[in-house]
Amino acid sequence: MPWPADNQTALDAFYTKHQLRPDGRPTVAWERAQLVTIPVPYPLTLAWDLSVQVRRITCHPLVADSVTRVLAAILAHYGSLDAVRSARMHLYGGCYNFRRISGSGRLSTHAWGAGIDIDPDRNPLGTPHSPELGMMPLEVVAIFQAEGWKWGGTFQTRPDCMHFQATT
Ligand SMILES: [Zn+2]
Repeated sequence: MPWPADNQTALDAFYTKHQLRPDGRPTVAWERAQLVTIPVPYPLTLAWDLSVQVRRITCHPLVADSVTRVLAAILAHYGSLDAVRSARMHLYGGCYNFRRISGSGRLSTHAWGAGIDIDPDRNPLGTPHSPELGMMPLEVVAIFQAEGWKWGGTFQTRPDCMHFQATT
């Protein structure tokens, strides 16, 4: 996958620069043109409200097929929804979300719908990966990496093991 580099210029060029309203949020026209809501291969559960089932997610059209393949591969890897749930890989932490990286002025890849978070509770921002603590399964990391996605667990400044993004 020819994903863009992880910097604002490359992200703007590949995923399209935001058109902003006076309040600094993206315009409805930008969101309509640059986002798509797609069904997911297995039902997700909202990580911060376990009573909410998530059957569709909103992402960038350029990542839609890839994220669908990733989730299908996660389901295939575990073999059943029960097994996916045992591994906590149904716990959805969000995809499109117009926001900046916390502690930074940079826009997050979530702001283009090109980042996705899984099992945030066990993979808190800033905590280095530790399989013994039940953090992100490396098999799932490999599934994302096979689609060219970058794992936040490899971030040098601050690991973000819940996070995957479609960048180099
Ligand atoms: Zn994230």
